[in-house]
Amino acid sequence: MRYRPSPEEVTERAARIRVLLLDVDGVLTDGGILLHPDGEESKVFNVRDGLGIRLLQRAGIEVGFISGRSSRVVARRAEDLGIGLVVQGTLYKLPAYEEIIAKRGLTDRDVAYVGDDIVDIPILRRVGLAVATAGAVPAVASYCHVITDRDGGRGAVREVCELILQAQGRWEEMAGPFLGTG
Ligand SMILES: [Mg+2]
Repeated sequence: MRYRPSPEEVTERAARIRVLLLDVDGVLTDGGILLHPDGEESKVFNVRDGLGIRLLQRAGIEVGFISGRSSRVVARRAEDLGIGLVVQGTLYKLPAYEEIIAKRGLTDRDVAYVGDDIVDIPILRRVGLAVATAGAVPAVASYCHVITDRDGGRGAVREVCELILQAQGRWEEMAGPFLGTG
């Protein structure tokens, strides 16, 4: 991971996070979309990201998707992971973001967001922990506190989940039962 402020500042920011919001295409996927002749589509998600999300949820952190496109497979993936917070089909994501934090009584500092393209910048400029994937378009990285080592769909989200759990001192507790240390 590359830290734009110091690693200490990133840890401080990550320690406050209550909600993790994720762009979908290029973050939870590599950005590829298989379009089928019948109008349906397919995307490839990453199971390691899925486990990271599960562990975060178990630690009491809410996870949500905010996608510029609209797709049934995204709703299906959210259902898979027990995610009720899903916003789809809006390129102007800021109003959705503002509604999400207002509803929960949160401030910008309580939220982390992961994005990869310019439509994500308005939210990235606001949140307490702004994350770009390794393959994000160059304009995005300059608004972020962290750039992941892995690209979207290849474990970028897992890195962020672990970063937050580590910063909050919950990683050992969440991973311990599997590592044989807890
Ligand atoms: Mg994207």
